[in-house]
Amino acid sequence: MTLTKLQEAEVCWHAAPVEQAAALAGDLERGLSDEEATRRRAEFGLNVIERRSGDSPLRVLWRQIDNPLIWVLIASSAIAIALGKVGDGLVVMAVVVLNTLIGFVQEYRAGKAIEALSAMVPENATVTRDGRQRVMPVAELVPGDVVAIAAGDKVPADVRLVQARNLNTDEAALTGESTPVSKTVDPVGKDAEIGDRLCLAFSGTLVTSGAAVGVVVATGYRTELGRISSLLEESTDLQTPLTRALAQIGKVITIAIGILAVAMLAVGMARAVSQGSTLFDAFRDSLLFAIALAVGAIPEGLPAIVTIALAIGVQRMAARRAIIRKLPAVETLGSTSVICSDKTGTLTRNEMTVTAAWTDGVEYALTGVGYRPEGHVELAGKRLDSPPEVLTRLLLHAALCSDATLREEDGAWHITGDPTEGALVAGAEKVGLRVDDERRAWARVDSIPFESENQYMATLHRRSGRDDVLVMKGAPEVVLQHCAIAPEDREKVLSRVEGMAGQGLRMLAVASRHANGAGAIHESSLWGLQFDGVVGMIDPPRPEAIAAVETCRRAGIEVKMITGDHRATAEAIGAQLGLATAGRAVTGAELQRTTDDDLRRVANETRVFARVAPEHKLRLVRALQAEEHVVAMTGDGVNDAPALSQANIGVAMGITGTSVSKESSDMVLTDDNFATIAAAVEEGRRVYDNLIKSLAFVLPTNLGLALILTCAVAFFPFDADTSRLLIPMQPIQLLWINLVAAVALALPLAFEHKEPDVMDRPPRSPREPVLSRFVLARTVLVAVMMASAALALFLWEYNTALAAGVALDDALAKAQTMAVTTVTMFQIFYLFNCRSLRDSVLRIGLFSNPVVYLGVGTVLLLHMAFVYAPVMNRVFGTTPITVTDLGFATLVSMVVLPVISLEKWWRGRSRARATAAA
Ligand code: ATP
Repeated sequence: MTLTKLQEAEVCWHAAPVEQAAALAGDLERGLSDEEATRRRAEFGLNVIERRSGDSPLRVLWRQIDNPLIWVLIASSAIAIALGKVGDGLVVMAVVVLNTLIGFVQEYRAGKAIEALSAMVPENATVTRDGRQRVMPVAELVPGDVVAIAAGDKVPADVRLVQARNLNTDEAALTGESTPVSKTVDPVGKDAEIGDRLCLAFSGTLVTSGAAVGVVVATGYRTELGRISSLLEESTDLQTPLTRALAQIGKVITIAIGILAVAMLAVGMARAVSQGSTLFDAFRDSLLFAIALAVGAIPEGLPAIVTIALAIGVQRMAARRAIIRKLPAVETLGSTSVICSDKTGTLTRNEMTVTAAWTDGVEYALTGVGYRPEGHVELAGKRLDSPPEVLTRLLLHAALCSDATLREEDGAWHITGDPTEGALVAGAEKVGLRVDDERRAWARVDSIPFESENQYMATLHRRSGRDDVLVMKGAPEVVLQHCAIAPEDREKVLSRVEGMAGQGLRMLAVASRHANGAGAIHESSLWGLQFDGVVGMIDPPRPEAIAAVETCRRAGIEVKMITGDHRATAEAIGAQLGLATAGRAVTGAELQRTTDDDLRRVANETRVFARVAPEHKLRLVRALQAEEHVVAMTGDGVNDAPALSQANIGVAMGITGTSVSKESSDMVLTDDNFATIAAAVEEGRRVYDNLIKSLAFVLPTNLGLALILTCAVAFFPFDADTSRLLIPMQPIQLLWINLVAAVALALPLAFEHKEPDVMDRPPRSPREPVLSRFVLARTVLVAVMMASAALALFLWEYNTALAAGVALDDALAKAQTMAVTTVTMFQIFYLFNCRSLRDSVLRIGLFSNPVVYLGVGTVLLLHMAFVYAPVMNRVFGTTPITVTDLGFATLVSMVVLPVISLEKWWRGRSRARATAAA
């Protein structure tokens, strides 16, 4: 039947026999041809389902408005309008709208940027095309493609199974039912519900165990998942512990300001009435102060700053090959105190080469590096022209019991499949075997795939005219358990393995036996094997991992290596990586025997864990967390998912990781490299530093403005003629400073480079409050300076103008302009102090962050308009001041530079003393 006919008939694939699915593929062994696949792609389109964003724009917009700070502003604006101050009221409203829009655009864009990141995690499928198995992007699958799926994979499309071995899938994504469903190849009745269609594996569901081959029957929107895709929402939660803490602080600040505003109203009214004002006038004027306070003291711009800083962090981490899947991870990375990393591929290169083989009591060396199938055998340093038969058989069996294939591309040799197996295949070629031919001759009848927990793989082969052969390869201890071998010989093998592993070699044993008439293999058939020998392969540490381990040590982060490899191999590689262990590595079996209480100590003290199974990882994470550690844990296998979820930062591997592990992770490494974790930690620390800098910059402005108003209400004189209180700044002027100047100046801090010592200090305690003693002390110090300077210059300008005979209103406008100018200049200078938390700006480089100058330039231009443009004068009640006044305000504001430099020096000295004392 042709493809179109099959599609037209709307085949009920769960009721159709295997042969019908095979017909869709044409040939199950060869799969589709590339031309046919291209044709079908043109007909059926790409195998993709667009995901809808979980947050509609309206919801994002509402979040901006539904914020206590904004409500206070809206109420203030309404009250101002009700009291006849229509201009003031409208400006406040305008600012609210502007602020909401800025917040909306930023948050919406941040959300989109984070959604886009998930597309950067590659999704691949194993497909047979033109007779060759390849790994290709899931999007390129077409109906009729023959795909292989195995434990840990996400099913790439709707697939009619044609071969299944213990296949179980988790269909929660589709049916909500998370108990794995056991799949078979047998058709079911036409009316079967989705959950009962056992011969179909559905797109987007996860393979929890087993393996299968199937034919793609539906792609993209034609899959079951595609049909319900309107329900698929990719929700990007932009909330993090920090934003929650800030929201909480925002509430507290709002309440405090509310109380202060009421107190101000009372004091202002009392004073005005005692000066002879009517009650209504006193109320109206004092209310304006209260509104001004609310407007000036609430840090409206803060949420936007935080979201932007986090979004920048996420993008910079992506550029350094760490894809953040959950935003809170950005912050948590900054306080990570332990990184537990897999060895193979993450700390080592995962470029395996067989360098040694031991069989029949003799150790041979193999030359040649990498997967290039060229090299020769040496015995005691001498080249052997014809390798002995025992060695050839050992490597033949090892290659037959492997799935990897070699290919040459642009002069370099690559593998498809597991690197350990790739090394075995290359090793077999080096002794003169042609692995492709051998595999054809020794057809594989059945297999038990490799799984980390079992540490072995087994296959059954048939060759015409010969006995069937059962082969097993895996960790030497495990393989030996299935061998018919005398105890003393066993000990001899194990001590040899120990010696070779001690040089950092990854060891694998191979065993085999004749198995006529078996037809299939089960665990129970793995007995009485004959020991063929062991092979040792090197997998050198990545040089950048060695450097990163050292960086982590300086940064107070413990690195622990967790591997399934042999203890001696793990210790040797650990030593090369600089993970010197006091004592020996601890093995999974030893962990098993350790009680939970002891485990906390062992987990803390040990740096290298060997022969670890995934379930031990979960206990290790828990033990370390019980010791108050913030734990990052890597994982790639299907069974690593629980440990990844439990860890504070679950790190999945982008290249070799299973879909299951990626789905449970907080971060995915697109290069599988340990050094990338260290880079992400560094970025995490930088982001947090920059947020603290923004806080230390923004909060003093708010407190300063509040102080200015409070002082005025409590102590400033009343004007004799109008019996009104002198007000140093009008509400809209405060709002201008708070929203325009403060935000434009604070944003560049999110782009600040890392502090020079960012990886030389211990990790931040997750319990450290956001408003630390440092931020609070700094806020008070700077606010007092800023308020004093603004009040002093206000009074000076006001009295000088009056003395020069300027009219009362003009003098007030001039003095208010002077006060605003002083605060703005003060902020500009203080910004330079804030660029580093500890160092002088000269040390971190005056020009290292050009965005600062963009911010300063913008604010200066806006401020010039504020002071000199007639329109702005009308809207904001300002008036031009002389260049001398401007210079004076600048000079006074500059005082902040030396004062904060002194403060940094003093804190640095106390820190040094505290460290010395410790
Ligand atoms: P990690 O990635 O956690 O550092 P690992 O990759 O060394 O660990 P596993 O893949 O769990 O650990 O392998 C554990 C042991 O199983 C290995 O030391 C090796 O002896 C054996 N082994 C590894 N790969 C295979 C394979 N493809 N077939 C058979 N045995 C294997």
